[in-house]
Amino acid sequence: MEAAQWIFCPHCEHKTRIKIREDTVLENFPLFCPKCKMETLINVRQMNMYVIKEPDAKTQSR
Ligand SMILES: [Zn+2]
Repeated sequence: MEAAQWIFCPHCEHKTRIKIREDTVLENFPLFCPKCKMETLINVRQMNMYVIKEPDAKTQSR
């Protein structure tokens, strides 16, 4: 049994072309939606998606 699912756009909830698996880990991933053409930074862990809301998180870099 394959545990995988599509990621949905957080803006329009349209299905994107990105698929994640149970063991997929994404950090600061620019999720692009082909429908509303928005790019959203996300983190994915254990099939949970977290939207990164800070536009410039680079200011705190070490
Ligand atoms: Zn969208």
